[in-house]
Amino acid sequence: MTDPAALMKRVHEPRLSKIAEAVIAGEPARENDLEYLLSTNAILELGAIADFVRRRLHQNRAYYGVNMNLNYTNVCELRCPLCAYSKDEGEEGAFTLSLDEIDEKVKTAVARGIDEMHIVGGLNPAIPFEYYVEMLSRIKKIKADLHIVAFTAVEYDYFSQKSGLPLEEVFCRLIDAGLGAIPGGGAEIFDENVRSVIAPKKISGERWLEVMRTAHKLGLKTNATMLYNHIESIEDIADHLSTIRALQNETGGFKTFVPLAFHQEHTKISSKRRDSTGCDDIRIFASARIFLHNVPHIKALWMYVGEKMAQALLSFGVDDFGGTYVHEKVVHAAGARTPDYGTEAHLVRLIKDAGFIPVRVNASYEVQHASGVY
Ligand code: SF4
Repeated sequence: MTDPAALMKRVHEPRLSKIAEAVIAGEPARENDLEYLLSTNAILELGAIADFVRRRLHQNRAYYGVNMNLNYTNVCELRCPLCAYSKDEGEEGAFTLSLDEIDEKVKTAVARGIDEMHIVGGLNPAIPFEYYVEMLSRIKKIKADLHIVAFTAVEYDYFSQKSGLPLEEVFCRLIDAGLGAIPGGGAEIFDENVRSVIAPKKISGERWLEVMRTAHKLGLKTNATMLYNHIESIEDIADHLSTIRALQNETGGFKTFVPLAFHQEHTKISSKRRDSTGCDDIRIFASARIFLHNVPHIKALWMYVGEKMAQALLSFGVDDFGGTYVHEKVVHAAGARTPDYGTEAHLVRLIKDAGFIPVRVNASYEVQHASGVY
């Protein structure tokens, strides 16, 4: 729906009507409307506004990627309570891939026709900075046009600390080696009280923003994530969104906002928390679409919210469905029930069945050749 009159006919709740009027006029949603958006029960009216914004930006296209996840090590010195993935060195199940092993995995995935690699891992003190540089340049030698989306802000901060190189230089060396874009992980929830419980040793929210600001200044495009469904409050979510919007006003470097539903299994987060409901998920994605007027894309990773919910969210502000993600390990270590890969044909079917046109892209939203599954 892109007709303003049609939108106004669907929105009756007085405060949402005012928000809809502002959205139609191209004005950003007000800060003091955000908690209201995040808690309203008028889900269909909220969804109508989010869908209006989504279609104004992307019409009825829905993006997906054909990519591989590379988790190069699960050894991590932080051992965040929220994390089911990390291990100590020497612990059963701990691994660090050699560069030759990475080459083999990449060659196999390239033979399957991937466009992109997503690379993240733990903070492993035994790995020298040269390993990361070499990793990217070897991947580029295997397939020069493979788009590499690699390392979270938490990892960049660690690389800089361990190597003694300034952050800018860390980025420049990795850009030279083939880095294409940066994923948005490690943002969690910016509020330091929440952070001190779920990830007490991780870089602060402020440092995460500083790393992203530096990346944006160097011309790198990045995602921004938000981990919800643990101990956060609506105020914490509102603060997180507001902080992302403010940095985006300054740098314009975020291309995609990605809310991630926390999975608790094998983590140290209290079982007393309340699981988010389907309506909570919808409110978060739809509110993000309305409030983050300056961030072009909202992504729902089907592995996190489930493929059925991800499909429904396409009508509530989401335009990016995520990718095939062969070999994803992080959310699956925490008990995600979704498969650890999706075929392109299956993702296309889910998107088309929701009434949208599937468009295969890389993380920079450059259209890629689809493999005949349409
Ligand atoms: S969340 Fe990231 S930084 Fe924290 S323990 Fe897990 S891998 Fe390490």
